[in-house]
Amino acid sequence: MTNLKHHPFGPSSMRRRELCPASMRLEEGLPEPPTSPEAGRGSRIHDLTAGYIQKGEALEPQTEEQELALKCFEYWQRVFLPEEEAEKMAVGKVEHRVEYRVIKDDPETQLYFGTADFIGLFNESERGLIIDWKTGFLETDPAPDNIQGAAYALALMQEFDLKECAVHFYNPTQNRASSHVFTDAEALARHIMRVHNLCLAPDTPPRPGEDQCRYCRAFYHGTCAGVKKELAKIAELAPELEGSIKSLSDEQLADFFEKTKVVAKAKDLAEKELRERIERDGSCAGHRIKLTSGGFDLPDIGAAFNLSGLSEKEFLKCCKLSESQLKKAWAQAQKDAGEFKTLKEGELAFNNVFAGLREPRPERKLLVKEKE
Ligand code: SF4
Repeated sequence: MTNLKHHPFGPSSMRRRELCPASMRLEEGLPEPPTSPEAGRGSRIHDLTAGYIQKGEALEPQTEEQELALKCFEYWQRVFLPEEEAEKMAVGKVEHRVEYRVIKDDPETQLYFGTADFIGLFNESERGLIIDWKTGFLETDPAPDNIQGAAYALALMQEFDLKECAVHFYNPTQNRASSHVFTDAEALARHIMRVHNLCLAPDTPPRPGEDQCRYCRAFYHGTCAGVKKELAKIAELAPELEGSIKSLSDEQLADFFEKTKVVAKAKDLAEKELRERIERDGSCAGHRIKLTSGGFDLPDIGAAFNLSGLSEKEFLKCCKLSESQLKKAWAQAQKDAGEFKTLKEGELAFNNVFAGLREPRPERKLLVKEKE
C-alpha cells in the first residue's frame, strides 16, 4: 500500500469518497487517465512555487505560469513569514508527506497518506500550518468544510502532537483564498473513519454527481453502473422534457439540472475519444472530421491600415483592444524604462493611469449551487 503514488483513500480523493463512497471500490484496478493539459499546468505551477519557497525568492515572471507561481509565493510570504518571525522554533517544509494512522505508533494501521504542498510547524505554541495550492478554474470547497484540508490537518496534528492546525487554500488563477483553524482532532478522525467505513462496505451504491464523477477513473473508463443508469434515465426523459419542464417542482428541476451535468461531462469524454479515434483511423462508426473555414485574421494591422484607405478613426472602429494585453505591454515598457521595479507594480499603476478609460464589463451571472 505504501508504494502507491496516490493512496486510494488519500486527502486529494477524499471529497470523492465522501460524496460517493462506492468510488473507492469502483476505481480499484483501473488505470489512471492520461495527464490532462490542465493537470500538467497545475503541476508546473506547483513545482515553480516549491522552488521559489525553497530559495526564498521568486523569478521576475516571464510566463503566465511563473506569474501564478509568484502569486503563490507572495501568499506564502504573507501567511508564513510573520508567524516564523514570531516563533523561534518555526520550521517550514515544501511537499511534505503526511500520513495518518488509526494507532499512532503502529504503521500497520495507516489509514491514508498524501502530500501537503507546504507545512509550517510552530513548536513553541504547538501549532501547525498547511498551505495547499489550487490552480484550476473551478471553485474549491471553503476550508472549514473541506475534507482534504481536514485530512491533512489531522495527519499533521497526529505526527507532531499539535493542538491546532491552520489550513489555507489559495488559488492564484482566481485570486481566492480560504482558511480555517482545525482544533478538534477527535471529531475529524471520527468523520474520516465514518467515510472510510462506508467506502469499505461492499454494497454501497454509486452516487453520481458532477463534483465526485469529474476525476473518477470509473467515470473516465465508462465502467460505473450508477452513471450508466443516470444516462439511461436522462435519455428516456429528454424527449418529453420540452413540454413538461415548467411543471417540474423546484427540487425536481434542480435535481434534473445536476444530473445533466454528469451527461455533459460524459459527452465531452466521448467526443474527445471519438475525435482521437478518427484522427488515428480516418473515421469511426460513421463519424468523421469535417473541415470548415475558420474565417481569417489580419495579423499585420499596419499593412491592413495602409491598404484600407480608411481614416484612423474609421479603422480603429474595426479593431478590438485587449485590456489585459495592453496592461501587460504597458507595464513591461514602464519597467524597461526603469519606472517600476516589477511588472506587478507597472500593472497596478496602469489601473490608475488608465482609470478614466477603463469601463467595467457587465457582471457575470453565474449559476452556483449552495453547499449542503
Ligand atoms: S463515476 Fe461517479 S458515481 Fe460512479 S463511482 Fe465514480 S464518483 Fe461514484
